[in-house]
Amino acid sequence: MEERVSGYRHVLMVPYPSQGHINPMLQFGKRLSTQGVRVTMVTTIFISKSIHLQSSSLLASVQLDFISDGYHQGGFDQAGSVPNYLSRMQEVGSNCLRQLIQKYNSSYHPIDCVVYDPFLSWALNVAKEFGLLGAAFFTQMCAVNYIYYNVYHGLLKVPISSPPVSIPGLPLLDLKDTPPFVYDPCFYPAYFHLLMNQFSNIHKADILLVNSFYKLEDQAVPNDTENVLNLFELDSSAISWLKEKPAGSVIYVSFGSMVCFSSEQMEEIALGLLATGFNFLWVIPDVERKNLAKEMGNEIRGCGRGLIVNWITQMEVLSNEAVGCFFTHCGWNSTLEALCLGVPMVALPQWTDQPTNAKFVEDVWKVGIRVKVNEKGIVTREEIEKCMRVVMEKELGREIRNNTKKWKELALEAVSEGGTSDHNINEFVNNLKAGFGLARDKETT
Ligand code: UDP
Repeated sequence: MEERVSGYRHVLMVPYPSQGHINPMLQFGKRLSTQGVRVTMVTTIFISKSIHLQSSSLLASVQLDFISDGYHQGGFDQAGSVPNYLSRMQEVGSNCLRQLIQKYNSSYHPIDCVVYDPFLSWALNVAKEFGLLGAAFFTQMCAVNYIYYNVYHGLLKVPISSPPVSIPGLPLLDLKDTPPFVYDPCFYPAYFHLLMNQFSNIHKADILLVNSFYKLEDQAVPNDTENVLNLFELDSSAISWLKEKPAGSVIYVSFGSMVCFSSEQMEEIALGLLATGFNFLWVIPDVERKNLAKEMGNEIRGCGRGLIVNWITQMEVLSNEAVGCFFTHCGWNSTLEALCLGVPMVALPQWTDQPTNAKFVEDVWKVGIRVKVNEKGIVTREEIEKCMRVVMEKELGREIRNNTKKWKELALEAVSEGGTSDHNINEFVNNLKAGFGLARDKETT
């Protein structure tokens, strides 16, 4: 074995291969690199083909490396089903991760710690085969992880048919506020297994990291406005378009990287937005455009107030003062980014953690409202228009806007020097530098 470069600690990050899981780990990795830690982020060969680097500066702080998920050509789509994808990724991914750690361990930069997404619990098993420190990095909020934990340990028996759902430490939850599997056992069983499996070996993890901050839920928060690693092609027109708009006049609309609405729901969203009379910037990735009727797209382009884009740098948009409201699916990253950048929300949650995130947005942090779904499962144009008015109009939205200011300040305080998140990250780095690697050093000397 080569002699290690002295003083360096090397963290290998293994995110679940999707935009919403890569982003927060990347932010954390960038933060670690500013403190002298070498960071390598591993993602799949398939994902590597769709990476759009916003600037090459990312590669100066976080090195990228790749493993196979068994589906080089088509990724998830090639697998044909979620269980197929997940089981092959575990089998092929484990072997590739083993080889990758061996590669680094016989180089000048051996691995000290594996920061893994608990959706990929097998990554911890591989880290432990090498005696490495394992840090679980949860990308969903503590409250949601706690619901999963209660279900996994049988403390909350599911399915539940009558509300409220009572879990110590959390507000009483209506069924619509919980991850859908809590009341519907048929809802994506493969993902239910994935979520439960997070806790199968968690006792072997040395550290638990959560992408949140203490005051938010009595814990690392985005502190720059660049994701720099996008899995979709960026549309550069949005920022110049926003610059021409008055402060607080634009509704920013995005439902993340995975939500796919029916044509009927897309039409209601379009008509609701048009009816508000406000400006709106709507992210619809190309793969989803088919669900918005051509005529509707033309009407939006023709109205002079709407812009549809493929993908933008969301944090750059949310930090633009023209944005007055975020119409969101309440993915945890989007929710956290809006909280940290002080943007009020109108929530249209779909699945997994999104309903619980929306509950906290509306009733706990009071930084937005949730749209009501009708008996056919559709959110009507009238409901969308009404909710947008509540948040966008001066008088109606005042309390919500005041609350967003408070949460923005608290988020800033948490990541600023001496803040709780800053403290936790420093503690992680100090421990990493001081001791976590010692056992390994002994083996190599
Ligand atoms: N995002 C982006 N540009 C877009 C839409 C989304 O950069 O046009 C980013 C957003 O900032 C967030 C991530 O994609 O970090 C979406 O993660 P989230 O957890 O909100 O939702 P998911 O895609 O996992 O459902």
